[in-house]
Amino acid sequence: MSKEGTVGYNKKSVADIDVKGKKVLLRCDFNVPVDKETGKIRDEGRIIAALPTINYLLEHGAAVIACSHFGRPKGEFKPEFSLAPVAESLSKHLGKPVKMAKDVVGEDATRLAAELKPGEIMLLENTRFHAEEEKNDPEFAKKLASMADIFVSDAFGSVHRAHASTEGVSHYLPAVSGFLLKKELDHIGGAISSPKRPLVAILGGAKVSDKLGVISNLLKISDAIIIGGGMAYTFFKAEGGKIGKSLCEDNEFESVLKCKEEAVERGVKLLLPVDSIAGPEFSNDVDPITVDSNAIPDDMMAMDIGPRAIVDFTSEIANAGTIVWNGPMGVFEFSKFAEGTKAVANAVANSNAISIIGGGDSAAAVRKFGVEDKITHISTGGGASLEFMEGKVLPGIACLLDA
Ligand code: AMP
Repeated sequence: MSKEGTVGYNKKSVADIDVKGKKVLLRCDFNVPVDKETGKIRDEGRIIAALPTINYLLEHGAAVIACSHFGRPKGEFKPEFSLAPVAESLSKHLGKPVKMAKDVVGEDATRLAAELKPGEIMLLENTRFHAEEEKNDPEFAKKLASMADIFVSDAFGSVHRAHASTEGVSHYLPAVSGFLLKKELDHIGGAISSPKRPLVAILGGAKVSDKLGVISNLLKISDAIIIGGGMAYTFFKAEGGKIGKSLCEDNEFESVLKCKEEAVERGVKLLLPVDSIAGPEFSNDVDPITVDSNAIPDDMMAMDIGPRAIVDFTSEIANAGTIVWNGPMGVFEFSKFAEGTKAVANAVANSNAISIIGGGDSAAAVRKFGVEDKITHISTGGGASLEFMEGKVLPGIACLLDA
Protein backbone atom coordinates (compact mmCIF):
# COMPACT_ATOMS: atom_id res chain seq x y z
CA MET A 1 0.00 0.00 0.00
CA SER A 2 1.48 3.34 -0.97
CA LYS A 3 -1.12 5.39 0.94
CA GLU A 4 -4.22 4.54 2.93
CA GLY A 5 -6.75 3.12 0.53
CA THR A 6 -4.55 2.93 -2.53
CA VAL A 7 -2.31 0.31 -4.07
CA GLY A 8 1.04 0.88 -5.73
CA TYR A 9 0.37 1.55 -9.38
CA ASN A 10 3.56 3.28 -10.46
CA LYS A 11 4.68 0.60 -12.87
CA LYS A 12 7.07 0.36 -15.79
CA SER A 13 5.56 0.54 -19.25
CA VAL A 14 6.84 -0.55 -22.66
CA ALA A 15 8.29 2.94 -23.08
CA ASP A 16 10.64 2.32 -20.12
CA ILE A 17 12.38 -0.77 -21.48
CA ASP A 18 14.38 -1.79 -24.54
CA VAL A 19 12.28 -4.06 -26.75
CA LYS A 20 14.55 -4.13 -29.82
CA GLY A 21 15.15 -7.65 -31.06
CA LYS A 22 13.01 -9.05 -28.23
CA LYS A 23 10.06 -11.40 -28.43
CA VAL A 24 7.18 -9.86 -26.54
CA LEU A 25 4.25 -11.82 -25.16
CA LEU A 26 1.48 -9.20 -25.28
CA ARG A 27 -1.69 -9.86 -23.29
CA CYS A 28 -4.51 -8.00 -25.02
CA ASP A 29 -8.22 -7.81 -24.39
CA PHE A 30 -9.62 -9.23 -27.61
CA ASN A 31 -12.80 -10.41 -25.92
CA VAL A 32 -14.84 -8.69 -28.64
CA PRO A 33 -18.62 -8.87 -29.08
CA VAL A 34 -19.62 -11.12 -31.98
CA ASP A 35 -22.87 -11.69 -33.82
CA LYS A 36 -24.22 -15.03 -32.60
CA GLU A 37 -25.65 -15.97 -36.03
CA THR A 38 -22.80 -14.98 -38.35
CA GLY A 39 -19.83 -15.11 -35.95
CA LYS A 40 -18.77 -11.67 -37.27
CA ILE A 41 -17.18 -9.13 -34.93
CA ARG A 42 -19.85 -6.54 -34.02
CA ASP A 43 -17.52 -3.93 -32.53
CA GLU A 44 -13.79 -3.72 -33.26
CA GLY A 45 -13.23 -1.13 -30.48
CA ARG A 46 -11.04 -3.40 -28.39
CA ILE A 47 -8.90 -4.33 -31.40
CA ILE A 48 -8.47 -0.69 -32.39
CA ALA A 49 -7.64 0.21 -28.78
CA ALA A 50 -4.78 -2.32 -28.81
CA LEU A 51 -3.09 -0.78 -31.87
CA PRO A 52 -0.91 1.92 -30.18
CA THR A 53 0.98 -0.62 -28.06
CA ILE A 54 1.28 -3.11 -30.93
CA ASN A 55 2.49 -0.46 -33.37
CA TYR A 56 4.98 0.87 -30.82
CA LEU A 57 6.41 -2.61 -30.27
CA LEU A 58 6.64 -3.43 -33.97
CA GLU A 59 8.18 -0.05 -34.84
CA HIS A 60 10.75 -0.49 -32.07
CA GLY A 61 11.98 -3.81 -33.43
CA ALA A 62 10.07 -6.28 -31.26
CA ALA A 63 8.40 -9.47 -32.49
CA VAL A 64 4.90 -9.57 -31.00
CA ILE A 65 3.22 -12.73 -29.76
CA ALA A 66 -0.27 -11.48 -28.92
CA CYS A 67 -2.68 -13.44 -26.76
CA SER A 68 -6.11 -13.01 -25.20
CA HIS A 69 -9.06 -14.87 -23.79
CA PHE A 70 -12.32 -14.84 -25.75
CA GLY A 71 -15.66 -15.87 -24.28
CA ARG A 72 -16.04 -18.90 -22.06
CA PRO A 73 -14.94 -22.05 -23.93
CA LYS A 74 -14.49 -23.76 -20.53
CA GLY A 75 -11.04 -25.18 -21.09
CA GLU A 76 -11.76 -26.91 -24.40
CA PHE A 77 -10.88 -26.13 -27.99
CA LYS A 78 -14.17 -24.92 -29.52
CA PRO A 79 -14.05 -23.45 -33.04
CA GLU A 80 -16.73 -20.85 -32.27
CA PHE A 81 -14.36 -19.35 -29.69
CA SER A 82 -11.37 -19.17 -32.06
CA LEU A 83 -9.52 -15.85 -32.23
CA ALA A 84 -9.01 -16.27 -36.02
CA PRO A 85 -11.54 -13.48 -36.87
CA VAL A 86 -9.58 -11.16 -34.55
CA ALA A 87 -6.32 -11.94 -36.41
CA GLU A 88 -8.07 -10.98 -39.66
CA SER A 89 -9.38 -7.70 -38.23
CA LEU A 90 -6.05 -6.90 -36.59
CA SER A 91 -4.23 -7.53 -39.85
CA LYS A 92 -6.59 -5.15 -41.66
CA HIS A 93 -5.97 -2.38 -39.10
CA LEU A 94 -2.20 -2.90 -38.93
CA GLY A 95 -1.81 -3.20 -42.69
CA LYS A 96 0.39 -6.27 -42.28
CA PRO A 97 -0.11 -10.02 -41.87
CA VAL A 98 -0.96 -11.43 -38.46
CA LYS A 99 0.08 -15.08 -38.25
CA MET A 100 -2.67 -17.06 -36.56
CA ALA A 101 -1.48 -20.00 -34.45
CA LYS A 102 -3.59 -23.14 -34.43
CA ASP A 103 -3.03 -23.60 -30.71
CA VAL A 104 -1.94 -21.76 -27.56
CA VAL A 105 1.22 -23.47 -26.32
CA GLY A 106 1.30 -26.41 -28.73
CA GLU A 107 3.57 -27.28 -31.65
CA ASP A 108 2.13 -24.75 -34.08
CA ALA A 109 2.33 -21.80 -31.66
CA THR A 110 5.85 -22.60 -30.49
CA ARG A 111 7.12 -23.10 -34.07
CA LEU A 112 5.56 -19.82 -35.29
CA ALA A 113 6.93 -17.99 -32.25
CA ALA A 114 10.42 -19.38 -32.80
CA GLU A 115 10.36 -18.27 -36.45
CA LEU A 116 8.90 -14.80 -35.73
CA LYS A 117 11.16 -11.92 -36.81
CA PRO A 118 11.42 -8.37 -35.41
CA GLY A 119 8.54 -6.25 -36.76
CA GLU A 120 6.30 -9.32 -37.18
CA ILE A 121 3.20 -10.24 -35.22
CA MET A 122 1.37 -13.46 -34.48
CA LEU A 123 -1.71 -14.28 -32.41
CA LEU A 124 -2.03 -17.32 -30.16
CA GLU A 125 -5.35 -19.13 -29.91
CA ASN A 126 -7.79 -18.35 -27.11
CA THR A 127 -5.93 -18.82 -23.80
CA ARG A 128 -9.13 -20.21 -22.26
CA PHE A 129 -8.91 -23.28 -24.54
CA HIS A 130 -6.83 -24.57 -21.62
CA ALA A 131 -8.42 -24.96 -18.19
CA GLU A 132 -4.93 -24.22 -16.80
CA GLU A 133 -5.35 -20.57 -17.85
CA GLU A 134 -7.96 -19.69 -15.23
CA LYS A 135 -6.28 -21.96 -12.66
CA ASN A 136 -3.07 -19.98 -13.13
CA ASP A 137 -1.25 -23.28 -13.58
CA PRO A 138 2.52 -22.64 -13.28
CA GLU A 139 3.47 -25.23 -15.95
CA PHE A 140 1.07 -23.69 -18.45
CA ALA A 141 2.29 -20.17 -17.60
CA LYS A 142 5.87 -21.36 -18.05
CA LYS A 143 5.10 -22.77 -21.51
CA LEU A 144 3.43 -19.49 -22.53
CA ALA A 145 6.37 -17.51 -21.20
CA SER A 146 8.95 -19.76 -22.85
CA MET A 147 8.06 -18.32 -26.27
CA ALA A 148 9.05 -14.77 -25.30
CA ASP A 149 11.66 -12.54 -23.59
CA ILE A 150 9.31 -9.92 -22.12
CA PHE A 151 5.68 -9.85 -20.97
CA VAL A 152 3.57 -6.78 -21.76
CA SER A 153 0.15 -6.58 -20.14
CA ASP A 154 -2.41 -4.38 -21.88
CA ALA A 155 -5.69 -6.02 -20.84
CA PHE A 156 -6.96 -3.85 -17.98
CA GLY A 157 -10.30 -5.67 -17.97
CA SER A 158 -8.50 -8.84 -16.82
CA VAL A 159 -5.93 -7.52 -14.32
CA HIS A 160 -8.15 -8.29 -11.33
CA ARG A 161 -7.85 -11.98 -12.18
CA ALA A 162 -4.74 -14.01 -11.43
CA HIS A 163 -4.72 -16.14 -14.57
CA ALA A 164 -1.72 -17.68 -16.34
CA SER A 165 -1.74 -15.05 -19.12
CA THR A 166 -2.41 -12.09 -16.80
CA GLU A 167 -0.17 -12.91 -13.84
CA GLY A 168 1.37 -16.40 -14.06
CA VAL A 169 3.76 -15.55 -16.91
CA SER A 170 5.28 -12.71 -14.86
CA HIS A 171 7.02 -15.35 -12.70
CA TYR A 172 9.14 -16.26 -15.72
CA LEU A 173 9.46 -12.97 -17.63
CA PRO A 174 10.08 -9.29 -16.84
CA ALA A 175 6.62 -7.73 -16.96
CA VAL A 176 5.56 -4.19 -17.90
CA SER A 177 2.34 -2.45 -18.93
CA GLY A 178 1.24 -1.47 -22.41
CA PHE A 179 -0.13 2.00 -23.12
CA LEU A 180 -3.79 1.09 -22.57
CA LEU A 181 -3.11 -0.31 -19.14
CA LYS A 182 -0.79 2.59 -18.31
CA LYS A 183 -3.58 5.05 -19.10
CA GLU A 184 -5.92 3.24 -16.69
CA LEU A 185 -3.26 3.18 -13.97
CA ASP A 186 -2.42 6.85 -14.44
CA HIS A 187 -6.03 8.01 -14.45
CA ILE A 188 -7.69 5.79 -11.84
CA GLY A 189 -4.55 5.53 -9.73
CA GLY A 190 -4.05 9.31 -9.90
CA ALA A 191 -7.68 10.02 -9.02
CA ILE A 192 -7.62 7.90 -5.89
CA SER A 193 -4.08 8.53 -4.66
CA SER A 194 -3.56 12.25 -5.31
CA PRO A 195 -6.93 13.68 -6.36
CA LYS A 196 -7.53 17.32 -7.11
CA ARG A 197 -9.95 18.16 -4.29
CA PRO A 198 -12.73 17.99 -3.55
CA LEU A 199 -12.96 14.33 -4.60
CA VAL A 200 -16.59 13.45 -5.24
CA ALA A 201 -17.47 9.77 -5.70
CA ILE A 202 -20.76 8.87 -7.35
CA LEU A 203 -22.01 5.35 -6.85
CA GLY A 204 -25.16 3.78 -8.20
CA GLY A 205 -26.49 0.60 -9.73
CA ALA A 206 -28.68 -2.18 -8.49
CA LYS A 207 -26.87 -3.92 -5.67
CA VAL A 208 -25.36 -2.28 -2.62
CA SER A 209 -23.59 -5.52 -1.67
CA ASP A 210 -21.48 -5.24 -4.87
CA LYS A 211 -20.36 -1.76 -3.92
CA LEU A 212 -19.75 -1.96 -0.15
CA GLY A 213 -16.04 -2.56 -0.70
CA VAL A 214 -15.70 0.46 -2.93
CA ILE A 215 -17.80 2.66 -0.59
CA SER A 216 -15.60 1.63 2.30
CA ASN A 217 -12.39 2.55 0.48
CA LEU A 218 -13.79 5.76 -1.01
CA LEU A 219 -14.91 6.85 2.47
CA LYS A 220 -11.22 6.99 3.38
CA ILE A 221 -10.24 9.24 0.51
CA SER A 222 -13.30 11.19 -0.72
CA ASP A 223 -14.72 14.51 0.38
CA ALA A 224 -18.25 13.58 -0.69
CA ILE A 225 -19.99 10.37 -1.73
CA ILE A 226 -23.19 10.47 -3.74
CA ILE A 227 -25.30 7.33 -3.63
CA GLY A 228 -28.09 6.81 -6.15
CA GLY A 229 -29.67 3.93 -8.03
CA GLY A 230 -31.37 0.88 -6.53
CA MET A 231 -28.67 0.59 -3.88
CA ALA A 232 -29.81 3.81 -2.18
CA TYR A 233 -33.06 2.28 -0.86
CA THR A 234 -31.30 -0.19 1.45
CA PHE A 235 -29.95 2.92 3.25
CA PHE A 236 -33.46 4.39 3.62
CA LYS A 237 -35.03 1.15 4.87
CA ALA A 238 -32.14 0.52 7.28
CA GLU A 239 -33.08 3.80 8.98
CA GLY A 240 -36.75 2.85 9.23
CA GLY A 241 -37.94 4.51 6.01
CA LYS A 242 -40.77 3.09 3.89
CA ILE A 243 -39.48 2.10 0.46
CA GLY A 244 -42.44 0.17 -0.99
CA LYS A 245 -41.35 -2.41 -3.56
CA SER A 246 -37.98 -0.72 -4.25
CA LEU A 247 -34.79 -2.77 -4.43
CA CYS A 248 -33.47 -3.65 -0.99
CA GLU A 249 -30.93 -5.98 0.57
CA ASP A 250 -32.21 -6.54 4.12
CA ASN A 251 -29.05 -8.41 5.13
CA GLU A 252 -26.93 -5.32 4.50
CA PHE A 253 -28.63 -2.95 6.98
CA GLU A 254 -25.76 -3.18 9.44
CA SER A 255 -23.15 -2.51 6.74
CA VAL A 256 -24.90 0.53 5.29
CA LEU A 257 -25.50 2.03 8.74
CA LYS A 258 -21.79 1.54 9.44
CA CYS A 259 -20.99 3.41 6.22
CA LYS A 260 -23.17 6.31 7.37
CA GLU A 261 -21.47 6.37 10.77
CA GLU A 262 -18.03 6.25 9.22
CA ALA A 263 -18.92 9.13 6.90
CA VAL A 264 -19.86 11.25 9.93
CA GLU A 265 -16.68 10.26 11.80
CA ARG A 266 -14.48 11.08 8.81
CA GLY A 267 -16.33 14.25 7.88
CA VAL A 268 -17.27 12.88 4.47
CA LYS A 269 -20.51 14.27 3.07
CA LEU A 270 -22.77 11.31 2.20
CA LEU A 271 -25.60 12.28 -0.12
CA LEU A 272 -28.64 10.09 -0.68
CA PRO A 273 -31.53 10.98 -3.02
CA VAL A 274 -34.12 12.82 -0.90
CA ASP A 275 -36.78 12.11 -3.51
CA SER A 276 -37.35 9.49 -6.19
CA ILE A 277 -39.38 8.73 -9.29
CA ALA A 278 -41.44 5.60 -8.76
CA GLY A 279 -43.81 3.38 -10.68
CA PRO A 280 -46.10 0.45 -9.81
CA GLU A 281 -43.98 -2.15 -11.63
CA PHE A 282 -40.56 -2.62 -13.26
CA SER A 283 -41.61 -1.25 -16.63
CA ASN A 284 -41.41 1.87 -18.78
CA ASP A 285 -45.11 1.50 -19.51
CA VAL A 286 -46.28 3.15 -16.27
CA ASP A 287 -47.26 6.61 -15.02
CA PRO A 288 -44.31 7.71 -12.85
CA ILE A 289 -44.85 9.69 -9.64
CA THR A 290 -42.42 11.73 -7.54
CA VAL A 291 -42.13 10.60 -3.93
CA ASP A 292 -39.96 11.20 -0.86
CA SER A 293 -37.43 8.37 -0.80
CA ASN A 294 -38.24 7.42 2.81
CA ALA A 295 -42.03 7.43 2.27
CA ILE A 296 -42.64 5.38 -0.85
CA PRO A 297 -46.16 3.86 -1.09
CA ASP A 298 -46.32 0.08 -0.54
CA ASP A 299 -47.30 -0.66 -4.14
CA MET A 300 -44.61 1.53 -5.72
CA MET A 301 -40.99 0.94 -6.64
CA ALA A 302 -38.37 3.71 -6.97
CA MET A 303 -36.62 3.57 -10.32
CA ASP A 304 -34.88 6.94 -10.53
CA ILE A 305 -33.73 9.80 -8.34
CA GLY A 306 -36.17 12.73 -8.12
CA PRO A 307 -35.87 16.43 -9.02
CA ARG A 308 -34.68 17.58 -5.57
CA ALA A 309 -32.05 14.85 -5.52
CA ILE A 310 -30.91 15.97 -8.97
CA VAL A 311 -30.37 19.50 -7.63
CA ASP A 312 -28.45 18.18 -4.58
CA PHE A 313 -26.28 15.84 -6.62
CA THR A 314 -25.51 18.17 -9.52
CA SER A 315 -24.59 21.07 -7.17
CA GLU A 316 -22.08 18.81 -5.40
CA ILE A 317 -20.71 17.63 -8.76
CA ALA A 318 -20.32 21.21 -10.01
CA ASN A 319 -17.86 21.97 -7.19
CA ALA A 320 -15.75 18.83 -7.58
CA GLY A 321 -12.06 18.81 -8.43
CA THR A 322 -12.09 15.08 -9.19
CA ILE A 323 -15.08 12.83 -9.88
CA VAL A 324 -15.17 9.05 -9.91
CA TRP A 325 -18.45 7.55 -11.06
CA ASN A 326 -19.59 3.93 -11.06
CA GLY A 327 -23.22 2.87 -11.54
CA PRO A 328 -26.37 4.58 -12.89
CA MET A 329 -28.77 6.65 -10.76
CA GLY A 330 -31.80 4.68 -11.89
CA VAL A 331 -33.16 2.35 -14.54
CA PHE A 332 -31.73 4.55 -17.29
CA GLU A 333 -32.60 1.92 -19.89
CA PHE A 334 -36.26 3.05 -19.45
CA SER A 335 -36.84 6.53 -20.92
CA LYS A 336 -39.21 7.52 -18.08
CA PHE A 337 -36.55 6.72 -15.47
CA ALA A 338 -33.46 8.03 -17.25
CA GLU A 339 -33.57 11.69 -16.18
CA GLY A 340 -31.47 11.27 -13.02
CA THR A 341 -28.65 9.43 -14.76
CA LYS A 342 -28.82 11.89 -17.66
CA ALA A 343 -28.63 14.91 -15.32
CA VAL A 344 -25.66 13.41 -13.49
CA ALA A 345 -23.92 12.55 -16.79
CA ASN A 346 -24.40 16.13 -17.99
CA ALA A 347 -23.25 17.59 -14.67
CA VAL A 348 -20.09 15.44 -14.74
CA ALA A 349 -19.45 16.40 -18.37
CA ASN A 350 -19.98 20.12 -17.73
CA SER A 351 -17.88 20.28 -14.57
CA ASN A 352 -14.26 21.41 -14.64
CA ALA A 353 -13.28 18.34 -12.66
CA ILE A 354 -11.07 15.45 -13.69
CA SER A 355 -13.73 12.83 -14.38
CA ILE A 356 -13.20 9.08 -14.25
CA ILE A 357 -15.99 6.71 -15.24
CA GLY A 358 -15.77 3.06 -14.23
CA GLY A 359 -16.73 0.72 -17.08
CA GLY A 360 -20.06 -1.02 -17.46
CA ASP A 361 -23.35 0.83 -17.09
CA SER A 362 -22.05 4.31 -16.26
CA ALA A 363 -19.82 4.13 -19.35
CA ALA A 364 -22.88 3.06 -21.37
CA ALA A 365 -24.83 5.98 -19.86
CA VAL A 366 -22.32 8.70 -20.82
CA ARG A 367 -22.25 7.27 -24.33
CA LYS A 368 -26.05 7.09 -24.50
CA PHE A 369 -26.35 10.72 -23.44
CA GLY A 370 -23.64 11.79 -25.91
CA VAL A 371 -21.18 13.32 -23.41
CA GLU A 372 -18.31 10.84 -23.61
CA ASP A 373 -16.02 13.41 -25.26
CA LYS A 374 -16.23 15.60 -22.17
CA ILE A 375 -15.07 12.88 -19.78
CA THR A 376 -11.39 12.69 -18.82
CA HIS A 377 -11.25 8.90 -18.74
CA ILE A 378 -13.75 6.10 -19.35
CA SER A 379 -12.33 2.86 -18.04
CA THR A 380 -12.32 -0.22 -20.25
CA GLY A 381 -12.75 -2.59 -17.31
CA GLY A 382 -15.89 -2.49 -15.16
CA GLY A 383 -14.94 -5.17 -12.63
CA ALA A 384 -11.26 -4.22 -12.65
CA SER A 385 -11.92 -0.51 -12.14
CA LEU A 386 -14.26 -1.25 -9.23
CA GLU A 387 -11.66 -3.49 -7.55
CA PHE A 388 -8.98 -0.88 -8.24
CA MET A 389 -11.12 1.77 -6.51
CA GLU A 390 -11.69 -0.66 -3.64
CA GLY A 391 -7.96 -0.36 -3.01
CA LYS A 392 -7.45 -4.07 -3.67
CA VAL A 393 -4.12 -5.39 -4.85
CA LEU A 394 -4.87 -6.45 -8.42
CA PRO A 395 -2.66 -9.42 -9.32
CA GLY A 396 -2.18 -8.34 -12.95
CA ILE A 397 -0.87 -4.95 -11.77
CA ALA A 398 1.09 -6.06 -8.71
CA CYS A 399 3.15 -8.42 -10.91
CA LEU A 400 4.51 -5.63 -13.11
CA LEU A 401 7.95 -4.12 -12.54
CA ASP A 402 7.91 -0.99 -10.39
CA ALA A 403 8.85 2.22 -12.17
P1 AMP B 1 -25.00 -2.57 -11.38
O1 AMP B 1 -24.61 -3.66 -12.33
O2 AMP B 1 -25.14 -3.00 -9.98
O3 AMP B 1 -24.13 -1.32 -11.56
O4 AMP B 1 -26.47 -2.15 -11.79
C1 AMP B 1 -26.80 -1.54 -13.00
C2 AMP B 1 -28.26 -1.72 -13.21
O5 AMP B 1 -28.95 -1.19 -12.10
C3 AMP B 1 -28.84 -1.00 -14.42
O6 AMP B 1 -29.21 -1.95 -15.37
C4 AMP B 1 -30.02 -0.24 -13.88
O7 AMP B 1 -31.19 -0.41 -14.66
C5 AMP B 1 -30.25 -0.86 -12.53
N1 AMP B 1 -30.87 0.06 -11.58
C6 AMP B 1 -30.45 1.28 -11.24
N2 AMP B 1 -31.31 1.86 -10.37
C7 AMP B 1 -32.29 0.99 -10.16
C8 AMP B 1 -33.49 1.00 -9.37
N3 AMP B 1 -33.81 2.06 -8.62
N4 AMP B 1 -34.27 -0.10 -9.39
C9 AMP B 1 -33.93 -1.17 -10.14
N5 AMP B 1 -32.84 -1.26 -10.91
C10 AMP B 1 -32.02 -0.18 -10.92
